[in-house]
Amino acid sequence: MPLISFVNWDAIPGVAHAAFGGWGVTALGVICILQYVVYLQRTRANQDETASAFHEIRSELDNIQKDHRITRLENRLLREFVSETDVDRAIRVLLNNLIPNTDRGFAVSLEISDKNISVGQSRGLSREARKALIVDPEILARAAGGEPFILEGQEFRTSCLAGSLTVADRRHIHRLFIIGIESEDALSGLVIATHMFHAETADQRHFALLKQLVQRISELRRAALALESQRHELTRTNDILELRAITDTRFESPVDMIQEFMTALRGKTAANRAVLYISTTAEGVSRNSFVRCGTVPNPNVERQLCQAEDAIAAQAHSTLTTQVFNRTDLLRHGIRSFLTHALAVPLVRKGATVGAICLSRDSSDKFHDADLELAMWAADYLAGTILNALQHAQVEQRARTDGLTGMANRASFDEAIKNEVRSANETDGYCSLLLLDIDRFKVINDKFGHLVGDHVLRSAAQTVLASLERLRTQDRVLAARYGGEEFAVLLPGVNETGAARMAEVIRTAISDHTFVFAGATIPTTVSIGVATLPKHAEDVNQLIAAADGALYYAKESGRDRVAIARSTDPRRDDTPVTLPGASQSL
Ligand code: GH3
Ligand code: MG
Ligand code: MG
Repeated sequence: MPLISFVNWDAIPGVAHAAFGGWGVTALGVICILQYVVYLQRTRANQDETASAFHEIRSELDNIQKDHRITRLENRLLREFVSETDVDRAIRVLLNNLIPNTDRGFAVSLEISDKNISVGQSRGLSREARKALIVDPEILARAAGGEPFILEGQEFRTSCLAGSLTVADRRHIHRLFIIGIESEDALSGLVIATHMFHAETADQRHFALLKQLVQRISELRRAALALESQRHELTRTNDILELRAITDTRFESPVDMIQEFMTALRGKTAANRAVLYISTTAEGVSRNSFVRCGTVPNPNVERQLCQAEDAIAAQAHSTLTTQVFNRTDLLRHGIRSFLTHALAVPLVRKGATVGAICLSRDSSDKFHDADLELAMWAADYLAGTILNALQHAQVEQRARTDGLTGMANRASFDEAIKNEVRSANETDGYCSLLLLDIDRFKVINDKFGHLVGDHVLRSAAQTVLASLERLRTQDRVLAARYGGEEFAVLLPGVNETGAARMAEVIRTAISDHTFVFAGATIPTTVSIGVATLPKHAEDVNQLIAAADGALYYAKESGRDRVAIARSTDPRRDDTPVTLPGASQSL
C-alpha cells in the first residue's frame, strides 16, 4: 500500500517541525511528492496495459469474426459449387460473390481459345471495356500457373489491361486480383476482379478459396468438353450412318442416289452449295461437276458461282490435299464471288485424284472441324466404295440431262410422265403438267444473237428451278427442257388449283427477273399452260395435249400469262380458276 494513503497530511507540518525542525518538513514534503509521482506513473502503466490487452482481445475477436465470415462464405460457396454442374452458372456464382456490389468494382471471366481472348461473363464492367479488353501476354503467362496473384502499383498502372478499361471502370481501383482457369494443360480462361469476396485486401484464405473455386470450374469445363466431344462423336457417327444408309437404299439410278447423298451432306454441314466432281480421265485432267446441290440466289450469278466452285475444287484436285478457304483466301486465289467460306476435299484413289467435293457458304459462319471431318469421310467413302457406280452414274446422268440448261432432258421427261400418270391412275391421285414457252424468243435471238439467247434460256431454266425450290415442292417434281425454248414441269400429286398457283409463281418470277448479258437488259416473259389428270386428261398424250392447248390459248390471249386447260368431261363444272396477275382460263 502506498505510504501516502496513511499519512495524516494535517499533522505532518507539526510533527515534522517538532522532530526535524524546518529542513525536516521540507524533506518529508519532497518524499511525499516523489511517492505520488511514482504512484501516478504506475497507474498509467496499468491503464496502458489494460488498454492494450483490451485492444488485443478486440482484434482477436475481429479476426475470429472475419475467419467465421470466410468460413461461412467458404462453406456456402463450396456447397453451391459442389452441386453445380453447369460451367457458366458456376462462373456466374463466382463473379457474384467476388463482387457483391457492382458500384465498387467489377469482375470478369475471359474465354481463351486459339489465342483469341473474349469476354465470357462480367459483372460491373462497362460495355465499352467488355468489347475492348486487352490482356498483356505477361499477365497470361503469369496466370498460366493457376495461382492467384495481384496486379497493383506501377505494374497495374502501366499494363495494357488497365489501359483498356474506361475511366469509369478504373474509378476506386488500385489493384486487380487475377487467376487463370486451366483445362487440358492449357489456359482456357481468366478471372479478373477488383475485390475478393467483399474484402478490399485479401489474405491467404481468400486466395485459397478462390483457387479452390476456380479448380472446380476447370473440372466442370473439362467434363463439359468431354461430354461435348462425346456428343460430337455421336453426331458424326449418326451422320455417317445416315449417309451410308442413302447409298444402301434402292434408287432408280445411281445419279438419284448421289444427288440425295450430296444434298444430305450439304444439309449436315450447313453449306449453301455442295458440288461433287468426278474426273473422267485417268490423269484427272478433266474434272466434271457431277452433282451441284443448292440454290443460286440469282440466276445471273450462276455462271460466276460455278466458275468459283470449279476453281475451289481445282485447288484440292491439284494438291491432293483438303483445303479450307475464307473470303481472304478465296480472293488470294483469284476466286471472286459472293462466297465467304469454302471447303475442297479431293477424292483420292490409289494415290491419284479421282474427283473432289466442294462445299461453300455465303454467310459469315465458317465451317467447323466437324464439317471438315464429315466432308473428308464422304470423300473417302465415295472414292473408296462407290466410285465405279459413280462413273456409271455419270454417263447415265449425262444421258438424262440437257446440256444447255442442266434440267432433265426430253427423254427423262417422257419416262417420268409415263410413270407418274400410271401411278396417279392406279391410286386415283392427281398429276399436273405445266408447259412453259418463252415469249417472242426469236426476237431475243435476232436482236442479241444466239449466244445471248442461250444465256437467257439457261437463266430462265434456273429461275424455274429456283421457284420450285422456293415452293418446297416434293422430290418427284421434275422440271425438264421440253423443246427449243419450252420447259415442262411435272407435278405428281398436285391438283389443278395447286398447279395453277405454282405456274403463276414461276411466271411472275421470270417476268420480275432482270436478264442481263454483257450489260444489256433483256426483258423476258413466259406463257404457261396448265393441265391436270384426271380433270383434263386420262392418259399421257391427253395430258400433254391439254397443257399444250392451254399454252396456245395463253399465247393467243396476249402472252405472259397462265391458262388452264378445258375439262375433258363437258358435264363437269368448268368454272375458270381465278388467278392473280395476267392469268387466264380457257
Ligand atoms: P412465241 O412467243 O410465239 O413463242 O414466239 P417465239 O419467237 O418464242 O417462237 P418461235 O417458235 O417462233 O421461236 C422459237 C425460237 O427459239 C426459234 C429458235 O431459233 C429458238 N431456239 C430454239 N432452241 C434454241 C437454243 O437452244 N438456243 C437459242 N439461242 N435459240 C433457240
Ligand atoms: Mg416455242
Ligand atoms: Mg416461244
